[in-house]
Amino acid sequence: MKYRIASIKGDGIGPEIVTQAQKVLNKTAEKFGHEFEFVELLMGGCSIDVNGVPLTDETVEEAGKCDAVLMGSIGGNTATSPWYRLEPSKRPEAGLLGIRKALKLFANLRPAYLYPELKDACPLKEEVAARGFDMMMIRELTGGLYFGERYTKEIDGVMTAVDTLTYNENEIRRIAVKGFDIAMKRRKKVTLVDKANVLDSSRLWRKVTDEVAKDYPEVEYGVMLVDNCAMQLVKDPAQFDVVLTENMFGDILSDEASMITGSIGMLPSASLNETKFGLYEPSGGSAPDIAGKNIANPIATILSAAMMLRYSFDLDKEADAIENAVRQVLKEGYRTIDLAKPGEDQVKCDRMGDLIAERI
Ligand code: NAD
Repeated sequence: MKYRIASIKGDGIGPEIVTQAQKVLNKTAEKFGHEFEFVELLMGGCSIDVNGVPLTDETVEEAGKCDAVLMGSIGGNTATSPWYRLEPSKRPEAGLLGIRKALKLFANLRPAYLYPELKDACPLKEEVAARGFDMMMIRELTGGLYFGERYTKEIDGVMTAVDTLTYNENEIRRIAVKGFDIAMKRRKKVTLVDKANVLDSSRLWRKVTDEVAKDYPEVEYGVMLVDNCAMQLVKDPAQFDVVLTENMFGDILSDEASMITGSIGMLPSASLNETKFGLYEPSGGSAPDIAGKNIANPIATILSAAMMLRYSFDLDKEADAIENAVRQVLKEGYRTIDLAKPGEDQVKCDRMGDLIAERI
């Protein structure tokens, strides 16, 4: 099959890490008889330098015409870069929010997986880390408290701030369906996380998700209150497969879940819309402190490319091949700067890309 992939390399380490992901994708294409065409697009600081704005209509339009978007990261040193002397709506990060909105990306997926070889980096108790974990956090990205009406005003002589948390059943159903579809590709378990003992919006999430669950009899479905989930993530993370939740709970819990893996350079992510289209990017930023030195860890971006194959193109075998190659390289002891222990040899960014490509 032939696929067109929008490649937004971005700023800082972005070009270095996306180039390695493209290398691995090209090797996968060769091995499995596919063709990946990369359409290079500008966004973020590099787009400000060329076009005066972080995101142009052309970038949105071209990206929308592709089968998926593979992104590096955008932004510079927020203290020293001239990009941060611009007004907030003209800064690099505005491009990211803009493209997510324009492409209607409502479902954010962040896997949290503990590689046995990297257990030492896990901050949890040894016996908890020993059991390992492999979960997928699915966060609703375009509704809820962050998008509701808000204001601060004096009411009866007292300054009062109001934020509104709104969800309608359609917004809930479309992400619940995504959650169950994704569970079918994994260990077939969904945990809905909410605060249904207090919030009306959570009670609607439960009602709609209960209905969706009936269409997936093979999936083990359960519910958990968000405060309990925050505890369970550090006590017994192995119990989770797909965790489905609303925007703010997901914001907080997905950071907690990534933290327990212990390594930012390993964490991929995806943002999907109602079709198979998605934007795939590492969870980390543009790391300006190490940009241009060829020492960044490209694995999060390579794993993001694997997610693209699995969730946008339905190429599960190909995605498995990439994930297995990453595991193999770690098993053989190769480590980039962020993973190496003091005194351990460090592999450069492009060499890590080569090592993974060779193992496809
Ligand atoms: P950061 O994630 O870029 O860096 C934090 C630390 O992690 C740094 O020490 C960095 O060297 C290290 N690191 C990050 N990715 C790494 C990798 N792949 N390999 C090795 N080490 C890695 O966060 P920050 O310093 O807070 O932000 C820098 C810039 O990135 C800012 O402009 C910020 O706005 C932007 N940012 C962009 C995105 C995005 O594009 N989605 C996300 C977060 C931050």
